[in-house]
Amino acid sequence: MGEAKRRGTPEERAAQARAKVEALRPAQLVCGHCKTAFKQFDTLNVPGLPGIDAVFGGECPSCGNDVVVFKGAPEAVAQAMIAWEKMLGADAQLGYQSSDGRHVPFEPEGSAAETAGAVPGKPGGTLH
Ligand SMILES: [Zn+2]
Repeated sequence: MGEAKRRGTPEERAAQARAKVEALRPAQLVCGHCKTAFKQFDTLNVPGLPGIDAVFGGECPSCGNDVVVFKGAPEAVAQAMIAWEKMLGADAQLGYQSSDGRHVPFEPEGSAAETAGAVPGKPGGTLH
């Protein structure tokens, strides 16, 4: 029985993963609904999202909207948003609210990708 290759102890790998996530953590999230910027948010542990380096999420202090940001390659972020939507069920909608109050659905290949984390340093997906 061969032993699987190991890179450090589980503790070391966990510390490395935490350091990587902390480096990706944005200074603030911006609510896609009311544009409130807030710094009170959590690092979400979301396994099974290939290409995603980190996920951050919090509740908007102004309107209670859930704001979720995926960090990773743009195409991976698009895939992650779809996976996230499926995970939450049919009622979940990813997208953002337009200025006149309409819900603009997330479209992987549309212009909405610009708000889906493709811009480095900018908060990405908004979850309603
Ligand atoms: Zn808000």
